[in-house]
Amino acid sequence: STPVTIFCALSRAATTGLLIKGGDYLELLAKVKTVAFDKTGTLTRGEFSVIDFRSLSHDISFNTLLYWVSSIESKSSHPMADALVGHGRSQSIEPNPENVEDFQNFPGEGVYGKIDGKDIYIGNWRIGLRAGCEKDSLDVQSMSRETNGYIYCGAALVGIFRLSDTCRSGAAEAIKELEELCIRSAMLTGDSNAAAMTAYDQLDRALDTVHAELLPEEKAQFIKEFKRNGPVAMIGDGINDALALATADIGISMGISGSALAMETGHAILMSNDIRKIPNAIRLAKRAFRKLV
Ligand code: ADP
Ligand code: MG
Repeated sequence: STPVTIFCALSRAATTGLLIKGGDYLELLAKVKTVAFDKTGTLTRGEFSVIDFRSLSHDISFNTLLYWVSSIESKSSHPMADALVGHGRSQSIEPNPENVEDFQNFPGEGVYGKIDGKDIYIGNWRIGLRAGCEKDSLDVQSMSRETNGYIYCGAALVGIFRLSDTCRSGAAEAIKELEELCIRSAMLTGDSNAAAMTAYDQLDRALDTVHAELLPEEKAQFIKEFKRNGPVAMIGDGINDALALATADIGISMGISGSALAMETGHAILMSNDIRKIPNAIRLAKRAFRKLV
């Protein structure tokens, strides 16, 4: 009978690693028209390596800057933060979180902390605005397209860094499988345009749309737009994805490396880093509901 078919499909999805919080979501999954992916930690491994880290100020030594950055970032759980702390340690610089006052996290932008009496902002160009940097100098900075990290001391740009990440194995296949199912795919990321395009290339340019430099509210706004074409699934891992996950018809959070907030918000949890489980589950859902009609 009907409930049995749904129950079987839910438990089969669960054994493959996708925990769906109820039959209603399974039905939505069967009808999904668009799948939106977060980039960092979802399409990519979220394990950054530091390619470049530089002080731009004569008054601040490389070691001092790295000490400030790693101490402030040691209070953040962002994947970029882990990479910067690790980079410090690799140069024998231990972070000292106790030396950081008034730590603040700005989702989609970066972090702030007061250390050794200095106001330090670390993040993308948006954090520069928060630091009080002039808009003109921001334009100059965006010319170095590969740079995705800026460090401000007060309103002065005092350092830059570049981090790179790699796509998860199976991610390109997952997107191609969605294409076979006639489902549109999109990347919604808070990272830079350059980083988004690098990932797009690594994914064999299979995604239908890519939107970068988004704030959490803007991710949710795109989900609303996609919903005009029919049900939308959103897959994400971060605190910055929670709003988009809640806005989607079915929000799926990454269960292994995802943030607690994303997992609470999600209507389903992927207990694996293999996103091919998503098209698999959609096929399973389609089969279950085809039997019912
Ligand atoms: P994504 O949408 O790809 O998961 P996020 O929204 O988490 O990305 O982050 C967007 C951007 O905000 C990052 O690419 C980075 O530039 C900046 N950012 C966020 N948190 C931090 C942090 N702790 N340190 C440095 N930069 C950060
Ligand atoms: Mg993410």
